[in-house]
Amino acid sequence: MTLDATLDPALRSWVDSANLPGADFPIQNLPFGCFHPADGQLARCGVAIGTQILDLLEAREAGLLDGLRAEVVDACGAESLTPLFATGRSGISSLRQRVSALLASGGDAAARARAVPGLLVAQDAVRMALPAVIGDYTDFYASIDHATNVGSMFRPDNPLLPNYKHVPIGYHGRASSVIVSGGPVKRPMGQVAAKPEGPPTFGPSARMDYELEVGAFIAGGNALGHAIPLAEAERHLAGLVLVNDWSARDVQAWEYQPLGPFLAKNFATTVSPWVVTLDALEPFRVPARERDASDPPVLPYLTDARNERAGGFGITLEVWLRSAQMREAGEPAVRISHGDFTGMYWTMAQMLTHHASNGCNLRPGDLLASGTVSGAAKDSRGCLLELTWRGSEPITLPNGETRGFLADGDEVILRGWCERPGAVRIGFGECRGQLLPAG
Ligand code: MN
Repeated sequence: MTLDATLDPALRSWVDSANLPGADFPIQNLPFGCFHPADGQLARCGVAIGTQILDLLEAREAGLLDGLRAEVVDACGAESLTPLFATGRSGISSLRQRVSALLASGGDAAARARAVPGLLVAQDAVRMALPAVIGDYTDFYASIDHATNVGSMFRPDNPLLPNYKHVPIGYHGRASSVIVSGGPVKRPMGQVAAKPEGPPTFGPSARMDYELEVGAFIAGGNALGHAIPLAEAERHLAGLVLVNDWSARDVQAWEYQPLGPFLAKNFATTVSPWVVTLDALEPFRVPARERDASDPPVLPYLTDARNERAGGFGITLEVWLRSAQMREAGEPAVRISHGDFTGMYWTMAQMLTHHASNGCNLRPGDLLASGTVSGAAKDSRGCLLELTWRGSEPITLPNGETRGFLADGDEVILRGWCERPGAVRIGFGECRGQLLPAG
């Protein structure tokens, strides 16, 4: 593994909060995001450092980005990261390297940056925006433990369908209802049926759920009709975020056959605001999940040695819940499950390559999500459907409240981070949302 200088564990920043142990955003991370400097002001692009944001528009105006490719410098004045993502992995990497030099302790670039007033803004003083203009959103189903658990509830004799180990299963989601962390989510109305054969009634969903997922933003992209070989897939990945694919299980159960999820999923999807680049994730690459000896071989277009050796990402994930009653009593959120992204059956590169394999064009800013991240252990199930086995085994919160599915006022907080010996820990920040009553 060759690591670039921005990942040197010895690097420190002149922004003190970035050097604290356990910080999500040390100088080795430098994720990109968008923020509103003040209410009513257009969003700007920035980079998280400690508890601060480096304002890329201010950096550009101060000449701190001079010498980078013109389209990269232009993109730093945009209202979303989509133009930056259009410059591809090389554009994103060149900007991240420059920002590392600006924020490092010592050096000429850092000295110039420190002299620019307004270059940094506090994260807690601004409102975050969606990172990109998301043209299309696709959600996969890449956790075999999730697929097996859900399948066994609905088809006990035949939990895993015959296609699962051959094809990365996915569906086209809805981009217009993807929102950034912190935005409220209203309990949706929908058709629900008490019995599989109906008849349905129309009303508020009574089986609201979250799904713990990891998302990837597309960089570069492909022209219509041109596939992306697996060896090139990661050149089209800008970086990763946390995703909560809110789901109305009763609506889903009634509507999903024969064409798959529709209104049960598209009322809201929450993403974390900071896009952790593939460059920053390089120290945390892991092998793709090893297939069982009895598994069928993967078709050639979906496998190569590099993907097997390092196609995965070692990300630890957590789900936290805080009910309205807990909030009123001043009690903190409680962790209800934890997950490990290394156990996914398909890698992000395989999902991307499969998506484009028929010539479907992926565009900068498109969002791909992994599907619910679940493990074999009960406390690593990534949604309440699995965790409470369709509500039949409710979980108990520290104050005695129980949950089969979400209640109005519940706040769901997803967290994720990467750590390993010899590297500086990096985090994703939070993906947070509160469920509001229907109506
Ligand atoms: Mn999902």
